[in-house]
Amino acid sequence: MPRYEFRCRSCGTTFELNRPMAESSDPASCPEGHDDTVKLLSAVAVGGSAAAPASGGGGGGGGCCGGGCCS
Ligand SMILES: [Zn+2]
Repeated sequence: MPRYEFRCRSCGTTFELNRPMAESSDPASCPEGHDDTVKLLSAVAVGGSAAAPASGGGGGGGGCCGGGCCS
């Protein structure tokens, strides 16, 4: 699941959320409970054509051989 980074404009806290892409633009509340937050651009691929994560990056989930479980 992609990770999104937000900054709270009320208290300046930067925080991260894991949420589905479909919810990437939904409002997020900061850990202090403020609603005035903005989404930051992070390492998650933004805008489409560039940089799909290489193998094992974000897509997979039940696969093996990514976390060292296959020896
Ligand atoms: Zn805040």
